[in-house]
Amino acid sequence: MTVTPLALTRPPSVTDAFVQRLVARVPGSTGATWKLTEVYTGDTVVELPQSSPDDIEQAFAVAREAQRKWAATPLKQRLAVFKRAHTLFIDNARTVADLIQVESGKNRRMAIEETCDPPMVMGYYLKRAAKLLAPATRGGPVPLLTTSTEIRQPKGVVGIIAPWNFPFATGISDAVPALIAGNAVVLKPDNKTALSPLYGVRLLEEAGLPKGLFQVVCGEGPDVGPTLIDQADYVMFTGSTATGKVIGERAGRNLIGCCLELGGKNPMIVLDDADMAETVSGAIFGAFGNTGQICMHIERIYLPESRYDEFRNAFVAKAEALDVRAAYDFGPEMGSLVSVDHMRRVKSHVDDAVDKGATVLTGGRPRPDLGPAFFEPTILENVTKDMVCGVTETFGPVVALHKYSTVDEAVALANDTDYGLNASVWGGNVDAARAVAARIESGNVNINDILATAYAAKATPSGGLKNSGVGARHGDQGLLKYTDAKNMAVLKKQVMGPRPGQKYDKYVESMLSGLKLMRRLRIR
Ligand code: NAD
Repeated sequence: MTVTPLALTRPPSVTDAFVQRLVARVPGSTGATWKLTEVYTGDTVVELPQSSPDDIEQAFAVAREAQRKWAATPLKQRLAVFKRAHTLFIDNARTVADLIQVESGKNRRMAIEETCDPPMVMGYYLKRAAKLLAPATRGGPVPLLTTSTEIRQPKGVVGIIAPWNFPFATGISDAVPALIAGNAVVLKPDNKTALSPLYGVRLLEEAGLPKGLFQVVCGEGPDVGPTLIDQADYVMFTGSTATGKVIGERAGRNLIGCCLELGGKNPMIVLDDADMAETVSGAIFGAFGNTGQICMHIERIYLPESRYDEFRNAFVAKAEALDVRAAYDFGPEMGSLVSVDHMRRVKSHVDDAVDKGATVLTGGRPRPDLGPAFFEPTILENVTKDMVCGVTETFGPVVALHKYSTVDEAVALANDTDYGLNASVWGGNVDAARAVAARIESGNVNINDILATAYAAKATPSGGLKNSGVGARHGDQGLLKYTDAKNMAVLKKQVMGPRPGQKYDKYVESMLSGLKLMRRLRIR
């Protein structure tokens, strides 16, 4: 395969001096570096320092020190930082998008959408955090004489491990509720995509986040992961299911909590009354948005026999008309895969499927003429479970079409997977679509949309079932998971035990009838 160098000019904001300043905060005492490249051209952008175990321990020590002061800072003052950050993030969205595009190769439309995620998360918790973090007085066991107060305390230092597909959103948005709750954060982004989260940390500090509170360490996962998990009080991980199992095991051994946001093999079910034009447009985004590298994107589409040909013809035509190319403007509808290695992995899934009898309706080939890691939007038919892409997440612009004859069959096929991250159901009758959605084993289900409606609903927890994860981000639990609950109980007068001189069996009798009475009166 020949790689044609592209005559592309890097966005003017991404100067050498700018990226050098960004990576200067990454500790790298051994002098080891990793070449961070511009995906569209393969050119080196910067030598990224690699953090040793000692560097990571030191980062945690600094973060721990800063966390004590931060936790003692009134919540109102902590929230004021995020009010300012909300504006700063939106005002600098174009620079963030430049960095995201350079390091990930995604198209600009997706990059700019990604920049909106941290401000949306900030917006939600700015409204909700005071209520969630306020001490809540609950009734104690004995009415009037006892109280119990639920007090929320920060965990301490949260370790965040983020992937490359949404480096800014997963690196920064997951840190926001942790910081608001009074924690420090040590983030390990993917080496390929460290620049945009580093810029996010800089913007947070410009907004007033105390220096030292948000540390960034870099390195290959297996090198950095063990020390990071061993030092952390809680781990927030986003990445593949295989790595999630390694992280979860280590966190379990250390008896610390973790949230694992993992992969998917997400189904789309089209019902026979679906609006075909909207469904086809939705499927184009579902399969090819972010070049098929969204954890919630669609890799399996189930269609009623009656509408299969109509959908297939329109879908293939639209996929073939997509504007796929490298550009730092809003023109392209699809960009590159993140790396040549990942492109080869995607290609191997397609090759394996074809070898075992799948049909390529369109696409199926790398496009080195567009850039080193480009791969065509690919639609397959006759994919079966003995093919790698029939059961495993491909995480590229590759989707398989399947026919079903009854809705029960469609639901069974959609659920026939070890994953359970996202699903999408399309139908004209929303009640009927909702009934189908309710039967799908998945942490997120969108009706007449692919994923944005669920993911952008920041008030609702979003996580995966089955092998797609443990825990959730967003909603109340997206912040409360970064806290421990302390149960502070007060007994105003010692009444729990026999009165002086009272026989124990009499005391037991009164205690048991007291329990019944309180239930009858609905006091407890
Ligand atoms: P990955 O698991 O290879 O890597 C994710 C992160 O973990 C990277 O920072 C990597 O360096 C690090 N890592 C790797 N091995 C490690 C180890 N042994 N210890 C500690 N850290 C380690 O995943 P990826 O290929 O970068 O990302 C793509 C995957 O992420 C896909 O499966 C996708 O579905 C998933 N994802 C899930 C969500 C979600 O919210 N559920 C969101 C985005 C991506």
